[in-house]
Amino acid sequence: MSKKTEQELLKEELFYTPESAYFVCDDKEIAKAEKFCEGYIGFLNACRTEREINAYVKELASSKGYREFDPKGKYKSGDKVFYDVHGKALILTTFGKKSVAAGTKIVAAHIDSPRLDLKPNPLYEDEQLGYFKTHYYGGIKKYQWPTVPLALHGVIYKKDGSCVTVRVGDDEGDPKFVITDLLPHLDREDRSMKKVIAGEELNILIGSRPFGKEKGDKLVKLNLMKLLNEKYGIVEADFLSAELEAVPAYPAVDVGFDRSLIGSYGHDDRVCAYPSVMAEFDVKKPEFTTVTVITDKEETGSDGNTGLQSAYLKQFIGDLAALAGVPCRDVLRASECLSADVNAGFDPTFASAFEKNNSAYLNKGIVVTKYTGSGGKGGTNDANAEFVSKIRTIFDKSKTVWQTGELGKVDGGGGGTVAKYIANLGVNVVDVGVPVLSMHAPFEIVAKNDVYMAWKGFKAFLESK
Ligand code: MN
Ligand code: MN
Repeated sequence: MSKKTEQELLKEELFYTPESAYFVCDDKEIAKAEKFCEGYIGFLNACRTEREINAYVKELASSKGYREFDPKGKYKSGDKVFYDVHGKALILTTFGKKSVAAGTKIVAAHIDSPRLDLKPNPLYEDEQLGYFKTHYYGGIKKYQWPTVPLALHGVIYKKDGSCVTVRVGDDEGDPKFVITDLLPHLDREDRSMKKVIAGEELNILIGSRPFGKEKGDKLVKLNLMKLLNEKYGIVEADFLSAELEAVPAYPAVDVGFDRSLIGSYGHDDRVCAYPSVMAEFDVKKPEFTTVTVITDKEETGSDGNTGLQSAYLKQFIGDLAALAGVPCRDVLRASECLSADVNAGFDPTFASAFEKNNSAYLNKGIVVTKYTGSGGKGGTNDANAEFVSKIRTIFDKSKTVWQTGELGKVDGGGGGTVAKYIANLGVNVVDVGVPVLSMHAPFEIVAKNDVYMAWKGFKAFLESK
């Protein structure tokens, strides 16, 4: 190799130039990333909704020695507990060597993803075709959802209080469902993107066969209701006390000839939730008590008693504080948090939406997002420089590949995460997550190296001294 010039050496010393993990890591590390992502793909395919993730992680945690948290229990360093939040959010904790009075290390990711929820009275028939009415959940580009095969997941609580679990469309041999679209031949009307399909047009086609041989009214609906009654024991009114979610009915897969990418529904934010949970599992005897949160409702603004605007995290930390005999506020003041959520990856096809010097790039590692929001940093946690500095050091020391990034160019739009709600409790917070292409689409893209770096970075943070 030729000797570096004085200019090159000085640039190396003075310039900030994040590099692809492929140039920074050796082959062994890249192989580890691939291996880690096999587990991630398995997780994506095993659970498609926040309830399913909650149940899956709870079971896995139990098998790894986590016990249900008892606010009156006695815990020592290294003990592991879980705290269930209405079956849709979950907290995992490993007790630290230090008292919680010294603060906790929080990693918070979300496990809800954009989707189509069935309305409370969803079933209807139109021109002898059977449909479900939906109300979309989270920020979607509606035109992306027609002609995508859909699966249905959720729960139905019957009048007698018993619960049936629904999971149809993802398993071998299952039927699937679909929203239809207008054929191009008849689509001459010039519609703006937002009007290509309206919310009330997101109707899921679920059947076409009437009940019986005599002609009559609503016989397709009747046949569908009869099938649902046979399969789930439900009557139409039971939909009123159900939560049924339509999600894309295809598995997560490798993307690209080099298999360096993963395509899936729901990377946002399972691509941070999975590494958070795995990092939490891998922490043995941390210095500080860990609080790994996988929350619900982020995509609709974190409201509701399973979202992070509710009191559940504060109350849990309050319980930890009470066990240690210290005020909750002292624990919160001393606590630190990574808000583990995705950011937009720079997409060369849509380069004008981004500002190149402050964008996150695929394969350049996890992205530290100092602030999100919109309109002059409105509605965001803007992380303190002192805290970002601390996180930088933790990532560098642990050889976590990382970069920085904003959510698009100034005034290009905006968004938010749970960071501000945790910061509002007095905790030091910064957003850290995986860059994603086609965020919120039914098929999102991430780079395997970045998923692995999320695990590495979260683990280093949870174990930090
Ligand atoms: Mn997110
Ligand atoms: Mn999102």
